[in-house]
Parts: sequence; C-alpha cells; structure tokens
Amino acid sequence: MKIIAFEHDGACRLGVLRGEDAVVDLDQAQPGLPRDLPTLLHQGEAGMRRVAEAAGRASASITLPLAGLRLLPPVPAPGKIVCLGLNYADHAAEGGHARPDYPALFLRCASSLVAHGDPIVRPRCSSRLDYEAELAVVIGRGGRHIRTEDALGHVAGYACFNDGSVRDYQTRTAQWTIGKNFDGTGAFGPAFVTADELPPGARGLRIRCRLNGQVMQDASTSDMLFPVAETIALLSECMTLETGDVIVTGTPSGVGHVRKPPVWMKDGDVVEVEIEGVGVLRNPVRDEAAPA
Ligand code: MG
Repeated sequence: MKIIAFEHDGACRLGVLRGEDAVVDLDQAQPGLPRDLPTLLHQGEAGMRRVAEAAGRASASITLPLAGLRLLPPVPAPGKIVCLGLNYADHAAEGGHARPDYPALFLRCASSLVAHGDPIVRPRCSSRLDYEAELAVVIGRGGRHIRTEDALGHVAGYACFNDGSVRDYQTRTAQWTIGKNFDGTGAFGPAFVTADELPPGARGLRIRCRLNGQVMQDASTSDMLFPVAETIALLSECMTLETGDVIVTGTPSGVGHVRKPPVWMKDGDVVEVEIEGVGVLRNPVRDEAAPA
C-alpha cells in the first residue's frame, strides 16, 4: 500500500494511492480512520488492515486526482530524524573519506522538511546547495536494544528522501548539523510505501537522482555499508526508537560538490529522487525570498 499525507482545509489527511494518479481519501472512505501517519502506525497491523479494507472497497466517486493535491511529508513532524552519512562506499571514497567502521550519524529537524512538489530552498547566505538521493525508513513499532535479526519487524515502511545539503556550512566545523538543517532542504515523499511491498530491508532497489532530467546518481540500495536492519540495531543500542521516527540511510556517489566543476542546485532547477518500487520525489529549486 502507498499512503500519502495531504492538506485539506489546513489540516492533514491521509489517502491511499490507487494506480499512478488517483487517491482514495480515507476520511471519505470511512470516517474515523486516522488522519496522519503516526496515528495510523500506533494502531499497528490492525490499523493498516482497516485502511487497506476501506481503500479497497471505496468507490471511484470518492477518489481524488493526485495532481490536484498539496502533499505533506509522509510524517510531517517526526520525533526524530536520524541520518547516516557516508553509508555507500563509493560516496565515502569520492569525498576522500575512509570506509567507516561505524556510521556517521547526524540529526535533522522537522523544520527542514518539505513535501513532494514544494520548493527546495537555496538560502540567501550560500550558493552551495547540493542534492543527495536517499532511502528513508519509517519506524512502526518502537524499541530499545533491538537485535539485527528482529529489526525489520520494527519497520513500517519506506519513502524517498532528498538530503539537501548546504556544503559550505556543512564543513564549517566537524559537525555537519547546520549544513543539513536549513529550512526547506529535506524533501520527503511523495508516498509512504508499506514494507510488505518491498524486498526485506528494501535491499536491491535502484536509487537515482536526476537534476533537470540528467542522471546524477545511480546505484542500488544493496550497496549500503550499514543496511537497514543493522542500522536499527546500532541506533537502538543508544536510543529508544519510537513510532514515526525516520531514519535516512545515506547517499551513493555522484553528488554535486565533488564534480569538476562542482554542480550546485539553483533557482529554476528541478530535482528528482527515484527509488524503484517506492516512487519519484520531485521538487523545484527556488531562491530564498529577499528580505522585505
Ligand atoms: Mg545524506
């Protein structure tokens, strides 16, 4: 099942994709169903089953055209967004980094997120805005000290993510955090895809980034140094993972800042992250508005 979050009268609603371009509005299909993904995830498998049944029997008359909706990030305000850096060997190598023994981890704030279709924002203070195609993991059942062999049972599903990075700020100090948390740089969506639709751990999926139609990154999720299950085990050794938390699993080679000459995203560009079986996340790039 592919579930989207969309805006309706200023509030969040959930819809289930039917085919490529139609959405069953769950609120119309069956009043009382959750209106946001974390609420649904807290209901566990029984909640997912209710949603699947309601969407399955919904008549075509209550479907909405996907193109007419303003999407929201699948989880608009995750309790935490934990990101991995250098999780693909070829990307670590292109940036001059050794293959890590432990993942480089940093946090992203919900205030940096944008939905599919919303602009990724190039800030006033920098022109070094880069793209990073990534697979996002959404936690269903939380836990601490989760074993690798049990970890995939804690995954509710997956989505595309663009870990937009302001490179000069990322490297101003040893902490990457500030360069990864500019407003409007973390694109997330369009849909949340339930884990049962994908191979275990979402392995073996082609992941690509296109900038203005040109392929900039092209790899397989099987190339991750720390796969999804192992990452969950490592993180939960330290912190309680909670329902609706998001783990962003790192990017393959081909990012803009190591190219010669470097490639930076700029106003008017269109950037896409495509992951096989998960979807296409498309965002225009816009300059931050000038001061009033
Ligand atoms: Mg990244």
